[in-house]
Amino acid sequence: SSAAMLDGAFLQLIARTKQRVLLSSEGDLSGRFIETGGAERLTFGPGGDFRVLADADGGLQLGGRFGEARIESPPVGRFNQINGAAALAVLSLLNAGFSADVLSSFRGMARRQTVLHRDLTLTVVEDYAHHPTEITALIDCLRAMEPERRLVVVFQPHRYSRTKQFKHAFADALQAVDQLFLLPVYAAHESELDGGRVVDLVEAFDAEPPEVLSMDPDGIGRLVDSVGTGPVTVAFVGAGDIDHFGGMFTSMHRTEFESSAAWCDFLKGRVSPECVLKQEEPLSNKTTMRIGGAARFYAEPSNLCDLRALLRAAKLFGLETFYLGRGSNLLVPDEGFAGLVIRFSGPAWRRTEVLGSGRLWTAAGVRLKEICGHAAKAGLAGFEFLEGIPGAIGGALRMNAGAMGNWMFDVVERVQFLDEAGQLQDLPKDAFHFGYRKVEEISRGIALGAILKSAEVETEASIRDRMHSYSSSRKESQPRDPSAGCIFKNPHGNFAGKLIDTYGVKGMRVGAAEVSAVHGNFIVNRGGACAADVIELVRQVRAVIHAKSGYVLEPEVLLLGKSWDDVLGEIEPIKEGMNHG
Ligand SMILES: Cc1cc2nc3c(=O)[nH]c(=O)nc-3n(C[C@H](O)[C@H](O)[C@H](O)COP(=O)(O)OP(=O)(O)OC[C@H]3O[C@@H](n4cnc5c(N)ncnc54)[C@H](O)[C@@H]3O)c2cc1C
Repeated sequence: SSAAMLDGAFLQLIARTKQRVLLSSEGDLSGRFIETGGAERLTFGPGGDFRVLADADGGLQLGGRFGEARIESPPVGRFNQINGAAALAVLSLLNAGFSADVLSSFRGMARRQTVLHRDLTLTVVEDYAHHPTEITALIDCLRAMEPERRLVVVFQPHRYSRTKQFKHAFADALQAVDQLFLLPVYAAHESELDGGRVVDLVEAFDAEPPEVLSMDPDGIGRLVDSVGTGPVTVAFVGAGDIDHFGGMFTSMHRTEFESSAAWCDFLKGRVSPECVLKQEEPLSNKTTMRIGGAARFYAEPSNLCDLRALLRAAKLFGLETFYLGRGSNLLVPDEGFAGLVIRFSGPAWRRTEVLGSGRLWTAAGVRLKEICGHAAKAGLAGFEFLEGIPGAIGGALRMNAGAMGNWMFDVVERVQFLDEAGQLQDLPKDAFHFGYRKVEEISRGIALGAILKSAEVETEASIRDRMHSYSSSRKESQPRDPSAGCIFKNPHGNFAGKLIDTYGVKGMRVGAAEVSAVHGNFIVNRGGACAADVIELVRQVRAVIHAKSGYVLEPEVLLLGKSWDDVLGEIEPIKEGMNHG
């Protein structure tokens, strides 16, 4: 049984110990080992060789092998005091003297009775307790620390199997608080188990069943309403990710429930100092089209840890997220974006490295132009088609950007990305489903970087010649005014630009948005265009092309936070007054 295995593990440890074993004088586990093995056995605690007794003034009275002494201001909590007694016994065995205040400098353990906030009316505590005995000890400790405050506990059960095994003991332990809330079970990689879900735990309560909260802003709102005002301790208890829920509650309280400020407050200390966090950040200057409103929340993570923290916070605060590269395939609506825009622009996302064997590592924020430069310098051919595409590698992977008869996945060997579940993946090209301007896995996740592979080795001069000729042909065929590149995808069997040209739509204009006279598949911003102009122009171009050719043009440029289908609706018949040449 697992109990026998546990005993066996301790016995092995004791058998390997040569000199002395220190055991707590309390608890049956210690009792079972007291007479076994060769090393000297000593105990610490109320009835131990090293005697430690709590006194009425909050101190510890030492006796037995310690000699008579008193310890002032030990840490609060039964287990903290037991551990403190063990530490003092070790010091004695080492003949290291200690002062009466030796334990008062102990700051506590992370996620153990961590005080997230304390003011006159509210104390917020977070603790890792996930076993009924631990929970009882924690409740006793919290009651002792602040006896005059009401005690509210939010408990997140950890693992379905543990919840199933201990649900009645959990209910007994948790019934001792003044008000209790539960969160859904933290799975810790387990599959759901009958009898081990939070509803099963709710049923284990004899008295009034506790309320189950959702782990999101609604759950926080519900908790705030129920807790009310007055001297209260709110403890967030469990070994899963309840610490984030506790952190969110604390940030909400500290910022008087203003969610933008709470988001910043929550992230402080959870992201690196280099991570940029902003609110109401203008986006037009981060796109090539130079159009659109602001992002309500905006961040530039400086590393993967920052990115993960941002994603966790976005989930908790219920924010939609968008990953921004160079904004060269993007239309930002005039009203902006109510969610979180994450942009990969810090130094960690701009790293490239020539790996040998014709390969190149490149992080998500590296500009395609820079990749061409590095590759040419290293004599790696095959990347020249990227010259002149004004994006970064993350966006190019997501879009499977292409030109001159090649596309991104021609040169991809592996891609490192976070999948939609937030798991880090490092997969070879064959694992991806890619096609014209789409890569399924990356459109659901976040590209972090890629290993690109060269077709062959050539001299730098011949590679640069090819880059130069591609660049010249772009200059001749593409407009200089701000745009987002080709506005429509090529329909099957035809070219959007050719159709627009053939049916005389070049020059069509709405406000300051215009179908380019240089390249029919570009909509350009002639100065001061707004997103509504571009959207209306897209609608009108589609209507004309559909009416005249039967082709339905689908936008290639992405519309931030919206679906083109919703915005455009059905294709309309051509209207009087449409300027369609
Ligand atoms: C003048 C001009 C010429 C162009 N020529 C071409 C061309 O020849 N061929 C071509 O294919 N395109 C072309 N484009 C369009 C555009 O440059 C490409 O689609 C480019 O790959 C987009 O990269 P970006 O970094 O700007 O992405 P963004 O526009 O910032 O984003 C595009 C999409 O990629 C997603 N994304 C960005 N970074 C990541 C990431 N790290 N992980 C997951 N998703 C991410 C975004 O969420 C968004 O959905 C052109 C654009 C312009 C303005």
